[in-house]
Amino acid sequence: MLIVKKFGGSSVADAAKLFNVAGIISEDYNKGNSVVVVVSAQGDTTDDLIEKAQEINPKASKREMDMLLSTGEQISISLLAMALEKLGTPVISLTGWQAGMHTNTTYSAARIKDIDTERITFEIDKKKVVIVAGFQGVNRYDDITTLGRGGSDTSAVALAAALKADVCQIYTDVDGVYTADPRIVKNAVKLEDVSYDEMLELASLGANVLHNRSVEMAKKYNVELEVLSSFNRVPGTKVKEVSDVEKMLIKGVARDNDVAQIAVTGLKDQPGVAFKLFSLLAKHNINVDIILQSAGQENNIQEISFTVTEGNLETALKVIKDNLGAIGGTDVKFDKNVSKVSIVGAGMASNPGVAAKMFEALQDVGINIKSISTSEIKISVLVERGMAEKAVAAIHDKFMLP
Ligand code: ADP
Ligand code: ASP
Ligand code: MG
Repeated sequence: MLIVKKFGGSSVADAAKLFNVAGIISEDYNKGNSVVVVVSAQGDTTDDLIEKAQEINPKASKREMDMLLSTGEQISISLLAMALEKLGTPVISLTGWQAGMHTNTTYSAARIKDIDTERITFEIDKKKVVIVAGFQGVNRYDDITTLGRGGSDTSAVALAAALKADVCQIYTDVDGVYTADPRIVKNAVKLEDVSYDEMLELASLGANVLHNRSVEMAKKYNVELEVLSSFNRVPGTKVKEVSDVEKMLIKGVARDNDVAQIAVTGLKDQPGVAFKLFSLLAKHNINVDIILQSAGQENNIQEISFTVTEGNLETALKVIKDNLGAIGGTDVKFDKNVSKVSIVGAGMASNPGVAAKMFEALQDVGINIKSISTSEIKISVLVERGMAEKAVAAIHDKFMLP
């Protein structure tokens, strides 16, 4: 079997953990499997590097940030290789560039374009465990790029797809995907399986246990994906084409704090206003989410509010202010004190009353809903940030407790 294993930062945080991981790898290798490993930076290394950069230049270019942040993974690949050497397991570590990870030129949020697997295959044929630095690649200028926070999951799935691996195992500090973040909701339940579509929604809506692009890619290339713990040997969660919809109405509750709400006021209540506003934002590559349009008032004046990621807030505000006349609004306001809380489940499409049940859970604990958005398999609400964890717990209890 060809197995791709990915170990997150907490799994390789210190020497003891590195040897634990080396043990897991050696065990599979000694059974006769080919093993390709992707690792993240140790513990909080990436955060620490970002902090270091802030001290020098808070407005550092994304190219230099990528140059800096990619070093975290380079430390872990070499240390893990040394641990495997010590166990007597043949091994070689490779940077993203050496492993043929070619990306586009979007520094700090690069997308993998293709993987030249020649070197990796060569090393596998020599019966070596191949350890690849996650999160990084190289672009057409031979510059180092990174894939965005949490991107090592995507490195692993991309490698599994390119190498046609039998399975891609994502080892982390929880033993699977739960019905909610087990750190927030103590009675969260581990899912045996979850569909690609459900997992993609959960990951995109704040369940950072998997990088959302890794799920997108697993679905596209039909990669068998499993989330499991590096600290115990219990079965994890399988991410696959179809999950057992009958069993559960909703698969999980997620929270995302990376949101800011923008409101444009004094808009005319007439055709074309929303188009002008949103096409302007699209032109500047700003994705908008939960949209709310207030009903037109007496004098045909309305307000449109929507959310963007915090990273896009500044640009969005500037673009709107610069074009307020053309859009026809009088003012633009923003609110960073909000969170998005969502429920996800393929089962909700065929079950009426799911939204009502979610709203009832929020009413029970006196939490006000600022905006709502829905799709076939998810419902999201915007709430005050300080209330988000309470909202997650209340919704979770409403749906999951018998
Ligand atoms: P790694 O460093 O291994 O990549 P991450 O911190 O990126 O680990 O992801 C694991 C974390 O994801 C868990 O510790 C957990 O707090 C969080 N998480 C959020 N939502 C969920 C969920 N629904 N199920 C499991 N873990 C979740
Ligand atoms: N080290 C990177 C991060 O902290 C990538 C990853 O962990 O997946 O975001
Ligand atoms: Mg992660």
